[in-house]
Amino acid sequence: MISKSLLPLEPASPAHICPFDQACSYLEAAAKELNLNQGLLEILSHPRKVVTVSIPVKLDDGEIQVLAGHRVQHSDVLGPYKGGIRYHPAVTLREVSALAMLMTWKCALLGIPYGGGKGGIPIDPKRYSVGELERISRRYISELLKDIGPSVDIPAPDMGTSAREMAWMMDTYSVNVGHAVPGVVTGKPLSIGGSLGREMATGRGTMIIVREALADRGKSLVGVRVAIQGFGNVGGAAAELLHQAGAKIIAVSTGAGGIFSEAGLDIPALKIYAAENRKSIVGFPQSVPISNADLLTLPCDVLIPAALENQITGENVNQVQAQIVAEAANGPVTLEANLALEARGVTVLPDILANAGGVVVSYLEWVQGLSYVFWDEERVNREMEHLMVQAYRKVIQQSNKRQISLRLAAYTLGVGRVAQALTDRGLYP
Ligand code: GLU
Repeated sequence: MISKSLLPLEPASPAHICPFDQACSYLEAAAKELNLNQGLLEILSHPRKVVTVSIPVKLDDGEIQVLAGHRVQHSDVLGPYKGGIRYHPAVTLREVSALAMLMTWKCALLGIPYGGGKGGIPIDPKRYSVGELERISRRYISELLKDIGPSVDIPAPDMGTSAREMAWMMDTYSVNVGHAVPGVVTGKPLSIGGSLGREMATGRGTMIIVREALADRGKSLVGVRVAIQGFGNVGGAAAELLHQAGAKIIAVSTGAGGIFSEAGLDIPALKIYAAENRKSIVGFPQSVPISNADLLTLPCDVLIPAALENQITGENVNQVQAQIVAEAANGPVTLEANLALEARGVTVLPDILANAGGVVVSYLEWVQGLSYVFWDEERVNREMEHLMVQAYRKVIQQSNKRQISLRLAAYTLGVGRVAQALTDRGLYP
């Protein structure tokens, strides 16, 4: 057992499943499987640094609002802290701490030289003007100037943020240090050193992992029935690429609700429809509305939760009909649900593998920036695919060798790599 967390976390809400407790449970299971000593487990279960700043912002109507901004730096044993910044009303320090830990295992599993971190501001970005969001982003990053940097901690987009916010953050950091520092963030616009292929990268990575899992079962993507919860940066890209590869996307959703079509949705047309209807997809021709909850229990081959955590829980897991669940979101399947799915023989492709495409291309962006050589999209996609397929193969091998689930296999690889590095580096002083 891990000793009590030293974190100044909010009290756990009894109504919610705590993402940090879940992340620690997975870590403990991996530590047990690896026979890690208790001291190492204690180190790995505590983030190295937790920062919460206040962000005073002048709203367009002249009022001043003060927001909280978190950045959790879980581990930098393998390299600079790495991870996105989330703008979402449900952001808590517990959630950010869990997500920071997941980033550590994800980067280690993929073999990229980063540690793990995560940031977040509990706001609904849709309720703020562009000008307000710019002031929030700039003030947040200026409060964190001493904590980030291209060899210290490298933020990236996450839910509610995009290349636009990264540009503001890169500019704020650069102006403060007195020269351009493109390497301080990834997921930037192309004009300031972003990488081709970054925007679609997480969805592309998910498509690759699903394709590999099907191939191992002697199947291809053609005609496979897929339901995707989420139609944003991750779900939208996964839908597009899976559709291109011949899969039948029977349902997708956004926070406002979803749509279903037995014949399969025309994803390129749906993208245009969503763009014309301010991201709303309900009402798309030849589809019927479906709730986010019902989408998860549709008869389909592959289910891709690509939105928030804790979507498949003890409550609805028995109704899930898919044979493969690919976690494009971070933590969409709870611990309890994960066990139930495993017991039923459903393949769960774990988040730290299935959604790693984003951070892999972040790494490729950073490498291109540091070497001042920029690649065409074909090369970016090829290098990413290589790293993703390699990680997938290692997870399968580990799962077969130890007779453990894919999640535990992925965790033992990620945690094991960090534990080894920690052992080799030794404890200072
Ligand atoms: N937010 C993404 C994730 O959860 C990407 C992080 C990054 O590129 O650093 O993996």
